Amino acid sequence: MITQKLDAINDYANAVNVASEILKSGGIVAVPTETVYGLAASAYSDDAIKSVFTAKGRPQDNPLIVHIASIDMLNDIACDIPDVAYECAKAFWPGPFTMVLPKGDKIADSVSAGLNTVAVRFPSDKTICDIILKSGLPLAAPSANTSGRPSPTTASHVIEDLDGKIDAVVCGNDSSVGVESTVVSLVGEKPRLLRPGAVTPEQLRKILPDLIIDDAVLKQLKEGEKVASPGMKYKHYAPKTNAILVEGCSNSFVRYVNQKTDCAAICFEEEYYSISVKKISYGSKRNESTLAKNVFAVLRDIDTLGVKEVYIHAPSKDGVGLAVYNRLIRACGFNVVTL
Ligand code: AMP
Ligand code: MG
Repeated sequence: MITQKLDAINDYANAVNVASEILKSGGIVAVPTETVYGLAASAYSDDAIKSVFTAKGRPQDNPLIVHIASIDMLNDIACDIPDVAYECAKAFWPGPFTMVLPKGDKIADSVSAGLNTVAVRFPSDKTICDIILKSGLPLAAPSANTSGRPSPTTASHVIEDLDGKIDAVVCGNDSSVGVESTVVSLVGEKPRLLRPGAVTPEQLRKILPDLIIDDAVLKQLKEGEKVASPGMKYKHYAPKTNAILVEGCSNSFVRYVNQKTDCAAICFEEEYYSISVKKISYGSKRNESTLAKNVFAVLRDIDTLGVKEVYIHAPSKDGVGLAVYNRLIRACGFNVVTL
C-alpha cells in the first residue's frame, strides 16, 4: 500500500477533504491531535477498525477511544450517560480528557474490543475536529504507532512506524501536549482514573471528589490480574535499548550514571553539563508539561545512541508529572532503581 502524505500546513483544506473522503470509504488515516498523532477509522465500520488493529499490530483485546467534535455527538456513542459526564465534558472538553461510558448500539463492537463500555473524547486540535465534522463520522483512533513503540508526536514518527501500512498521514503540527489523554471510567461505583494525562488528578477531583486512582497507573499488574483498562497491561512505549528508570535527587543521579559504562542518561536540563556519559535532556525538572511534550520523542531517540543501557531520571509524580512517570515506568518494563 502507498501511504499518501497530506500536507496540512501548506494545503490544509485539501488535507482535510482527502482525509475525510478516505475515512468515509472505510480507509485508515493518521491525524494530528493535541495529545499524540492518532490512527483514525470510522467508529461505525467494523472492517475499518480491524484494519487499524492490523496496521498497528495491536492486541485484539485493547479497545480504542472514539473522537467526537461536539458534545451533541456524545449521544451517538454512549447510552445511559450520567449527569456527572456532562459536568466533566463542560470542565475538560474540548481537550486531553477521555471518559469511559456505557456503549451505544451504533458503535462497532470491535472499537470496544467486546466490552459493553466505550471510551470517548472531544479533542481540542482543530485538524481532527475539522475531519470529524467534514466526514460526519465519529473517529475511533488509537495512537498512530506500531503497538509497543513510543507514541508519535510528529508526522515523521508516524511515517517511521506505519509507512506502507495505512492509507494516509495528515502531516500537521507536532502534538502540543505530548502524552495521551487522561482516561477516567464513569461506569463503576466510583469514578476511576485509568490513565493519567494532561488533565491532572487535582483538576479531576474538583468535579469528581471521590475519584480513585487505579492500581495499574503506577504498579505492574500480576499475571492474570483483572484489569479495568486493557491497555495498561501491555509493555508499552519501549525503546529497543534496555531502559531503567532511576529515582533520586540530581546529585545522586549524576554520580550514579557517571560511574557506569556503555550507557546513556536521559536527564533534566539542570543536570546536563554534569553528566559525562552520552545524554539527552527531556526538559527542566520544574516543568512537567515540557517533560510530557518531549518524552516520546526522547524515547525514540534513545535507540540512535548506540549504547547497551539507558538510565532515565524519573520526574516527580505531581501534576502532569504523573502521566510522564506512568509512560516511563512502562517504557522501562517496571525496571526501577531507587538511589
Ligand atoms: P490509545 O488509544 O493507544 O491511547 O489507547 C487507548 C487507551 O484507552 C487504552 O489504554 C485502553 O485500554 C483505554 N480504553 C479504551 N476503551 C476503554 C474502555 N471501554 N474501558 C477501559 N479502557 C478503555
Ligand atoms: Mg497507544
